[in-house]
Amino acid sequence: MKPAFNTPDWVLAALQQRRQHDLMRRTVTLASPQVPHAVIDGQDYTSFCSNDYLGLANHPELVRAMQASAQQYGVGGGASHLVCGHLAPHQQLEEALADWLGYERVLLFSTGYMANLGVISALAGKGGVVQDKLNHASLIDGALLAQAPLRRYLHADVVSAEKLLSKSANSGLLVTDGVFSMDGDLAPLSALSRLAAEHQWMFMVDDAHGLGCLGENGRGSLSLEGLDSASLPILVGTFGKAFGTAGAFVATSHDYADYLTQFARPYIYTTAMSPAIAGASLASLQVIQSAEGQERREQLASHVSYFRQRMQSLPITLMASDTAIQPIIIGDSKAAIQVSDALRSLGIWCTAIRPPTVPAGSARLRITLSAAHSEADLVLLCDSLEQVLTTED
Ligand SMILES: *Cc1c(COP(=O)(O)O)cnc(C)c1O
Repeated sequence: MKPAFNTPDWVLAALQQRRQHDLMRRTVTLASPQVPHAVIDGQDYTSFCSNDYLGLANHPELVRAMQASAQQYGVGGGASHLVCGHLAPHQQLEEALADWLGYERVLLFSTGYMANLGVISALAGKGGVVQDKLNHASLIDGALLAQAPLRRYLHADVVSAEKLLSKSANSGLLVTDGVFSMDGDLAPLSALSRLAAEHQWMFMVDDAHGLGCLGENGRGSLSLEGLDSASLPILVGTFGKAFGTAGAFVATSHDYADYLTQFARPYIYTTAMSPAIAGASLASLQVIQSAEGQERREQLASHVSYFRQRMQSLPITLMASDTAIQPIIIGDSKAAIQVSDALRSLGIWCTAIRPPTVPAGSARLRITLSAAHSEADLVLLCDSLEQVLTTED
């Protein structure tokens, strides 16, 4: 007789709770690459919720580079970086990133989530971690893994951050998103950098949504705020968004890189990223640094300003964002799902984002724009929003 396993009641109760509050999540399957015109459940949609801000996820150069890299180096890393999984494409990518951003060293991680867990858990000093209330979940989880004190300041509020640093007997790590992932606004990086320096705290920025899209040469929030490796010693970037591939990195000094190589567990105890992905990411960096990359950034910026201008006449409050992330706050989770469904019936795909990803009562459409959208796509989006948000009541 087979042993029978019953699903524990608390698992079923947790699911039921999510359903009752319109918070149940599920995956949908795309039958197409990650492009603005995606095929989902057999239907064509224009999608406005991908993080492929520059339209590189399905770029022919990247696809070719990945194939070439796989031909030469294979598909699997085969071991962790420290055992024997650090292949030539990894090294080339690290060096090219260090050059681009002006840092001594770069270390690759398999995902942004793991980079943040690794860096924060290794570097949270006695003073622990102080971070923005709206920081990405992976930054929060890094502090949990560190088992260090975690304190959060009011969103983008330097005075609130200063209070926490002043109260702390020991120095630790000050951490912020560069561009906030659910709101699209920018952190006050240069003020935070000064604050950290005054208090002798380490300073770390996660620029998952800025790198590639913003600043000179696509160098992100760092460049917008005039920071460099001295004023921003620990910079995390990811490849899953504007780079259109997968994985992440930390750009830092020799000393921190050596230290993380010894002590960042999510760097040490995991297989190196696929060398084919490293090859594709290097090709992506080359596009980002080229004239084509610049054109893509300009196209994206022009979509952002068109969108914001069209939204002014609607009964909504736009967030203070000039980035590709343009959220429309709906509030109630059920209402957010209804708006998302109404848009879907007009051929627009934009998943509603609900708590606990965003604070309670702030369910939203997290509209994201991409250089790969056409002007006609933007017109369709704005016309559809106009229709849905003005007939809604
Ligand atoms: C997406 C994201 C991450 C996680 O990166 P992955 O490579 O997707 O794991 C980390 N930080 C921020 C701010 C993000 O938006």
